[in-house]
Amino acid sequence: GLSTRLQNVFSKLRGKGKLTEDDVNEALREVRLALLEADVNFKVVKDFVAKVKERAIGQEVLQSFTPAMIVVDIVNKELTELMGGTQSKLARSNKPPTVILMAGLQGAGKTTMSGKLAKLLLSQNHRPLLAAADIYRPAAIKQLQVLGEQIKVPVFALGDQVSPVEIARQALQHAKDHNNDYLIVDTAGRLHIDESMMEEIKQIAETVDPDEILLVVDAMTGQEAVNVAESFHKQLELTGVVLTKLDGDTRGGAALSVKAVTGCPIKFAGMGEKMDALEPFHPERMASRILGMGDMLTLIEKAQAGIDAEKAKEMERKLRTAEFTFDDFLEQMEQVKKLGPLDQILDMLPGAGKLKGMKDVKVDDKQMGRVAAIVRSMTKEERANPELLNPSRRKRLAAGSGNSVQDVNRFIKQFEDMRKMMKQFSSMMGPKGAKQMKN
Ligand code: GDP
Ligand code: MG
Repeated sequence: GLSTRLQNVFSKLRGKGKLTEDDVNEALREVRLALLEADVNFKVVKDFVAKVKERAIGQEVLQSFTPAMIVVDIVNKELTELMGGTQSKLARSNKPPTVILMAGLQGAGKTTMSGKLAKLLLSQNHRPLLAAADIYRPAAIKQLQVLGEQIKVPVFALGDQVSPVEIARQALQHAKDHNNDYLIVDTAGRLHIDESMMEEIKQIAETVDPDEILLVVDAMTGQEAVNVAESFHKQLELTGVVLTKLDGDTRGGAALSVKAVTGCPIKFAGMGEKMDALEPFHPERMASRILGMGDMLTLIEKAQAGIDAEKAKEMERKLRTAEFTFDDFLEQMEQVKKLGPLDQILDMLPGAGKLKGMKDVKVDDKQMGRVAAIVRSMTKEERANPELLNPSRRKRLAAGSGNSVQDVNRFIKQFEDMRKMMKQFSSMMGPKGAKQMKN
């Protein structure tokens, strides 16, 4: 993927000392290829590479002690800029209800996202109302009603014999009458080239005068997402974009291009099918993620939902400085259970691409239980010093935990690889680098 490619580029640069113009050119050639491969719009790539080059071939890079770091920093900053710079919040009307109109292709995730947004608003003590204005897809109304029941948000529906424009109009009145401060209008999927369907959503917009028109874009659709976004924007004057299915494999292309092409900020990211798989879209975090540095901040934030903040900070520091012990591992594993699917967590850790790629790392709950048993069989000293684990101690651990010696060996190897990776990562960043990346 893109992260791996970029990581390769940067590890080539690392240790070179000072960068020549040729080095920069070569690195950027790789960056360009990597971005194109990740399905980023070619015009966006062209602009992007030109901008980075302009900044990179300068004295600051040539005279720096850590040239690779500077290039990473520039690419990171430019990627962030490309995705909108700062985080963009949901609009709020001073004349409630705030009306949010959802638009997009079929299957993009509009209905799911409508539910997620409603749930988020509810958790912020708002009183959202959902409106079911997809009268075309069989069971679409039911789908929204089921979600509404699940998240305890009322759903306004008039069946499928009333026009979507009329449903939206009455939903707005209903919201006003019932003191709902947000109205989220879920609409049918439509193609940007379908004139009558586009006319319909324009009429809905005229009728409810939305504060937000959010285009829901499936991040897996890559290049095509850009054409769709461009066309929707021309016809509807979008106020923002929501990227869904960012939990999937392809994650680069759409995120990078959509903002650049439409000028609309990406406001939220959908990270799964569940109602709480929603994150505000942070351009700088996404840039770091694409660069393969992992999304520490998101991970920490998630962790804080279930974990003591001090502990989370300490864990982050340990990960960064590779002072990670078996005890930390055990604790982390227990916390991880609260955080959600482990694959997702791994994506957020630096170098996790490699970790997941390692054949032996199979992370399921059963495996986690067995691994925890190995750690629990260790003495205090052993937990802090993996070096102590000689063959006879390993045999003891195997017997004590109900694993084979091979299992124990494999786990210790994985643990050491992980520590090594963390160390490499932090030396690549360096104390200076880490600071630079943060601002
Ligand atoms: P709509 O046609 O635009 O309303 O799309 P839906 O909301 O019905 O979603 C289509 C499918 O995509 C459903 O199976 C959803 O569960 C799934 N989906 C929606 N958002 C996400 C997401 O962020 N991640 C994943 N993995 N699946 C999603
Ligand atoms: Mg739908």
